[in-house]
Amino acid sequence: MNKTLGYATQNATAPLGPFDFERRELRPRDIQIEILYCGVCHSDLHTARNEWKNTVYPCVPGHEIVGRITQVGKDVKAFKKGEIAAVGCMVDSCGTCSSCKENLEQYCEQEVIFTYNGRDKHDKTVTYGGYSTQIIVDEKFVLHVPKEFKESDLPGVAPLLCAGITTYSPLRHWKVGKGSKVGVVGLGGLGHMALKLAHAMGAHVVLFTTSSGKTADAKRLGADEVVISKNAEEMKKHANSLDFILNTVAAAHNLDPFLELLKREGTMCLVGAPASPHPSPSITNLIFKRRQMAGSLIGGIKETQEMLDFCGKHHITSDIEIISIQKINEAYERMLKSDVKYRFVIDTASFKSKS
Ligand SMILES: [Zn+2]
Ligand SMILES: [Zn+2]
Repeated sequence: MNKTLGYATQNATAPLGPFDFERRELRPRDIQIEILYCGVCHSDLHTARNEWKNTVYPCVPGHEIVGRITQVGKDVKAFKKGEIAAVGCMVDSCGTCSSCKENLEQYCEQEVIFTYNGRDKHDKTVTYGGYSTQIIVDEKFVLHVPKEFKESDLPGVAPLLCAGITTYSPLRHWKVGKGSKVGVVGLGGLGHMALKLAHAMGAHVVLFTTSSGKTADAKRLGADEVVISKNAEEMKKHANSLDFILNTVAAAHNLDPFLELLKREGTMCLVGAPASPHPSPSITNLIFKRRQMAGSLIGGIKETQEMLDFCGKHHITSDIEIISIQKINEAYERMLKSDVKYRFVIDTASFKSKS
């Protein structure tokens, strides 16, 4: 077996603490990865605290994983020992349904096996995520980290595996590019990636935020304009002008002021899952301009690779703050106060230290 050091929660109210466990023996198509960095996503916190009411304890969160391959199974073709590789939110799916066949494993009609709090298809054990020293994953769900990234870039690459793909996939699906005017709502982990990606795709990007004081940072990240969404006058200037809005805000809020900014046939895509529902938007806002509201979940493995390659080519990484695993509970509290620019990343070398 493969002895692994991890950090886990034992119930919804307990803080995370040390948890040692065994990873499975390598199957023929498995890859063993020594984890170097793991990003800290809001989903980790929701799951650790059972806010989605489906957590199996102990729970080892973490699905923004970058590491070095230490061993490959005998049938592995596409990866080599020593290579830098990455793992995102999924580690398996049925592989045979129409979504899987179209490289959209995240929408698998049978069952997506998530990187943590999922259940392995073969041995039915609960999956443990990246707050740990190593992980073993089927090669189909492992990503290549492009050569353009230097070793010092790797902490900032980790968040691309969830925050990056969650924003990249809808921007691509709704064909954002040169000539598009795109709105990004919210400047957090997802929002800051959306600014960087939409800017690199060539769009004119407008950030909508409730807080003043973010303008300079938003512009540095790729926004062409910044609008305080509480200011009705400022909002009005953009009415009926946006091709696409990526709404990254998870807190329940009034969607109408944003729908009114869309052009005829424009789409607002929501990627934050609110704990309590948004107030229902006015349907006439949709009807009168044939506007659309949509949702989007991460991205398939093929598209995740495409996103990593795009980020390599455009030198895009996440803005991060590196923490030791021992600081994870503190990081959760700060994350709840949006006190992070813009993602915490665990340096797993800290598992070997005591503080
Ligand atoms: Zn995530
Ligand atoms: Zn499937």
